[in-house]
Amino acid sequence: MFISHLYKQKDCVFSIEVFPPKQSTNKEKLYDTLKEMATLHPDFMSVTYGAGGSNGGISTCEIAGYIQNQLEIPALAHLTCVGADRNTIRENLAQLHTAGVHNILALRGDANPNLPFSKEFPHASHLAEEILKQGGFCVAGACYPEGHPEAASLVQDVENLVYKQNAQVSPLITQLFFDNLHFYRFLNLMRKKNITIPVSAGIMPIVNTRQIERTIKLSSASLPPQFTKMIARWQDDPNGLFEAGIEYAIQQIRDLIQSGTDGIHLYAMNNPTVAKKVHEGIQDLL
Ligand code: FAD
Repeated sequence: MFISHLYKQKDCVFSIEVFPPKQSTNKEKLYDTLKEMATLHPDFMSVTYGAGGSNGGISTCEIAGYIQNQLEIPALAHLTCVGADRNTIRENLAQLHTAGVHNILALRGDANPNLPFSKEFPHASHLAEEILKQGGFCVAGACYPEGHPEAASLVQDVENLVYKQNAQVSPLITQLFFDNLHFYRFLNLMRKKNITIPVSAGIMPIVNTRQIERTIKLSSASLPPQFTKMIARWQDDPNGLFEAGIEYAIQQIRDLIQSGTDGIHLYAMNNPTVAKKVHEGIQDLL
């Protein structure tokens, strides 16, 4: 099943993202997590990729194959092209094909001093073109409601999405954000620029203090006052913060679905309890 078809069939596509554990000894735990998440019947599950293939533990391909074949849920394997040449990419595609994985999130990967940008694939759209040339895959892409940090402006970043649209990328999945206004503004801008690809909104529930600094630094998401107020109120109470973070994400998602958003992509941090609680709070709308 190509996930692009889901966006034609459903009002709102619900997906969950997972990441490979650092050590292969955590494989059984991960598979238990995936089984629990599968009981929520997400429309697809995505698996992140360490830029340059540096996972150390279980590979993205193996996990995506498990989701696709054992759990019978469409799997979306992330793939980056930073530091990769055409042969490496073709090997990756052959492995995914053999594993029965037919959906790929084509990404460039972050700038990294140890991994020079690829000459053959300087941008994600070039990787998407290569994947589609090989055939047999649906290709999704990333987008940034507050603009990609390297782009000169949000408008410039949105205009660059035309490269993904021309490369037949569909759907797009957003970077996480905490303020829906950014997402609505971004969508308006996209549609004005005639970028018509369906977009899933990426939402990450913040449920502990460790997550806060790291997530915000990595995503450069801005923080609306109601979010900072929530953190200030609960930062010394782990249980309170957990519940408040889940509730914040539920309210964000409910507003997005009620506004007609094409899809919700849940960054559940490999935590099935988080995924279940959020799902409980939104399932009447899905
Ligand atoms: P690109 O689309 O190449 O964009 C990068 C920059 O170049 C942007 O500023 C864009 O405006 C500009 N640009 C794009 N195309 C062109 C063009 N043709 N000409 C000129 N400029 C252009 N990273 C990982 O390492 N592993 C993961 O699993 C992973 N998963 C992610 C999932 C999602 C949903 C998102 C949003 C990000 C993910 N990332 C992941 C991070 C991602 O790799 C970085 O944000 C990276 O810096 C950009 O990747 P991209 O695919 O958006 O790149």
